[in-house]
Amino acid sequence: MSHVIRSEVTVAEMAEHGIDSVDAFCEKCGSLWRAPIHILPPATTLAKIAALMVCPNCGGRHVDVVPASREQRGTAH
Ligand SMILES: [Zn+2]
Repeated sequence: MSHVIRSEVTVAEMAEHGIDSVDAFCEKCGSLWRAPIHILPPATTLAKIAALMVCPNCGGRHVDVVPASREQRGTAH
């Protein structure tokens, strides 16, 4: 499994890998939350998603995003 994540990867490309959401992290207050990306236009890039993201806790705009794969979630066998 590749861990090379390009900031120009698109929603459509991530969807091909079973990724329909991102884990977002606020650099200001440390909030961590999961945001759905399948609602976004397929050509939206990860960098664009990060730019659009606003922290629901403090309203901060310095948000880090990482693709969140359903397959990575804990107890799946
Ligand atoms: Zn915050």
